[in-house]
Amino acid sequence: MRIAIVADVHANLVSFQAVLRHAEEGGALDAIWCLGDTVGYGPQPNECLDLLRSHEHLAVAGNHDLAACGSMTVDEFNADAAKAALWTGKQLTQSSREYLQSLPLICQRGEFTLVHGSLREPEWEYLLSTSQARAQFALQETRYSIVGHSHMPFVCREIDPEPPTLLFATDGERTGLTEQRLILNPGSAGQPRDGDPRAGYALYDTDAAAVTFARVEYDIAATQRAMKKAGLPRWLSDRLSEGL
Ligand code: ZN
Repeated sequence: MRIAIVADVHANLVSFQAVLRHAEEGGALDAIWCLGDTVGYGPQPNECLDLLRSHEHLAVAGNHDLAACGSMTVDEFNADAAKAALWTGKQLTQSSREYLQSLPLICQRGEFTLVHGSLREPEWEYLLSTSQARAQFALQETRYSIVGHSHMPFVCREIDPEPPTLLFATDGERTGLTEQRLILNPGSAGQPRDGDPRAGYALYDTDAAAVTFARVEYDIAATQRAMKKAGLPRWLSDRLSEGL
């Protein structure tokens, strides 16, 4: 099976479509695994949810998903994120809202656990340090876990009793799945924040037992035009050009 692993699509339909096209270049896609924050920030929340739901998929809820569907307040959000979350909430169709409300915070499939932030704080923790990785491994019941939320692609390896290693994953990097326990982050498909504005995702090839990270060019200006038309905060649109 070929599975596209995506996180933090953030209602950026143009980038999400580009990611799926890229994933399909190497062969048919069997499923999408989605680490949450499919909506929020961007201009096309329903379209992104429809595209996700048109595929065989697994998904967990992110903080932006929960805020948009009314399952969480925006009290913890910064001003622009809160504004976008409230705008998103107004756009959601009944079907999109109910779908978001139905998503679990944590999902297990085979050797994998999916969670947006971290196992100890699914909605909020930005898992980016070795001490946080250690806490994640302690709670991780499966060999591998996949997170999103930080918008930073990485591979973290457990090397007990040494501290885990957490290394940024670059375009084209391939990680073989062995007995070693891992935490993976595919990066953000809709709002990269590592200085590279290209959409990020990872492809899991079950036959090869490997995950390959990829970055994909997309029409950033098209998304920015849609954001302007929707009246979304300027900074949220500007940052897409920089990947910040
Ligand atoms: Zn996010």
